[in-house]
Amino acid sequence: MKQIYLDYAATTPVDPEVFEKMKNFFTNESQDFGNPGSLHYFGQRAQSALDFSRKKIAQSISANFREIIFTSSATEANNLIIRGVVSGSISAFKNNGQNFIPKIIISSIEHPSVLETAKDLEREKTAEVVYLPVDRSGVVDLATLEKELDENVVLVSVMVVNNETGIIQPIEKIEKLIDDYKKIKNNAKELKYPMFHCDATQAFNLFDLNVIKSGVDLMTFSSHKIYGPKGAGVAYIKGGADRADFIKPIITGGGQEYGLRSGTENIPAIVGFAYAAEKSFSLFKKEKERLEKISESFIKEIKKEFPEAEINGSVENRSFHIVNLYFPHNKNIGISLDLIGISASAGAACAQRIEKPSHVLKAMGFSDERIDRSIRFSFGRFFLEEDVFPSVLKISEALNKNKK
Ligand code: PMP
Repeated sequence: MKQIYLDYAATTPVDPEVFEKMKNFFTNESQDFGNPGSLHYFGQRAQSALDFSRKKIAQSISANFREIIFTSSATEANNLIIRGVVSGSISAFKNNGQNFIPKIIISSIEHPSVLETAKDLEREKTAEVVYLPVDRSGVVDLATLEKELDENVVLVSVMVVNNETGIIQPIEKIEKLIDDYKKIKNNAKELKYPMFHCDATQAFNLFDLNVIKSGVDLMTFSSHKIYGPKGAGVAYIKGGADRADFIKPIITGGGQEYGLRSGTENIPAIVGFAYAAEKSFSLFKKEKERLEKISESFIKEIKKEFPEAEINGSVENRSFHIVNLYFPHNKNIGISLDLIGISASAGAACAQRIEKPSHVLKAMGFSDERIDRSIRFSFGRFFLEEDVFPSVLKISEALNKNKK
């Protein structure tokens, strides 16, 4: 049975061209396996691969070379940014003789790598956390943000595209709110805080991040969501990681990555990430159009088979590579679909093994019963337009058989 993969938001396969480029960096054959920290020939080869990759990633988001810091994943990049900014602010205030409990504002629909990190800081009383509510359409509430901005806020973190619903967040409006707040507070003089962080993990290959980047201080990406390998992520730091005295490392050691992330860099994964980013960037407009069409026809076909099915969240304000659907007459949809060869997820892959209703759909005000009857389909590069109809046929067959 041919399996159909409809879970590109969980991870993507490595692009074969990317895989080819990575191969050299493992074995002795091409002499590219070195440690970039070593000063000899092998080390220099590895260092130049690292520099080359950093440049490629920087180019793909029109950033500066020094603004890119490599981590092992988006999860680690989110941890570095949140924990790093919080502890950096505490140190700065301590130096001024003040005891300070920083406040951070995040949305209630963030990925667990943001949400659980914030909760951890809150539990240990290192930071005060404000969770921005979302409305039924899945968009964060800006009035709460505006009300909560004060001199204790060091970081605001809101994702670009939600990984469970595909809902696009109003990043430019948030930028403006923060900017206006800073202007009022400081008579147009630049204030360091609040900093603005965007988890752009689900947006990298389908959005013009240059636009988003213009108003944010910090961003997060992951290689394995854009047809690169697992094991590499990026924290983007505006103004250069080497000048980021406001952020403290969470992994200390040999001082790699401008002192912000010690540990020998994963060169094969980073090289793969760089080629994947370059390719995604070059395909972005075409791929966006293609996925828009696929998403539209998928929903149309589903609606023909299941007129009672509903999209969870905004219909228009959605990234076309993700659709979260409610089927009132079915439970455990993921399992029924897997049995007939369709792979899709109820929510974030990392939460699948913990039996808890989706925090995202819950924050949007949906009942546990509805959440139980919802599923996320996500599309990507190797899912073709001609795959839509046969996929919907299979889905229809499975769900009609398993009505509960
Ligand atoms: N943020 C978002 C929005 C994501 O979708 C994911 C992956 N599900 C992550 C962070 C974590 O990425 P990684 O697997 O690289 O840790």
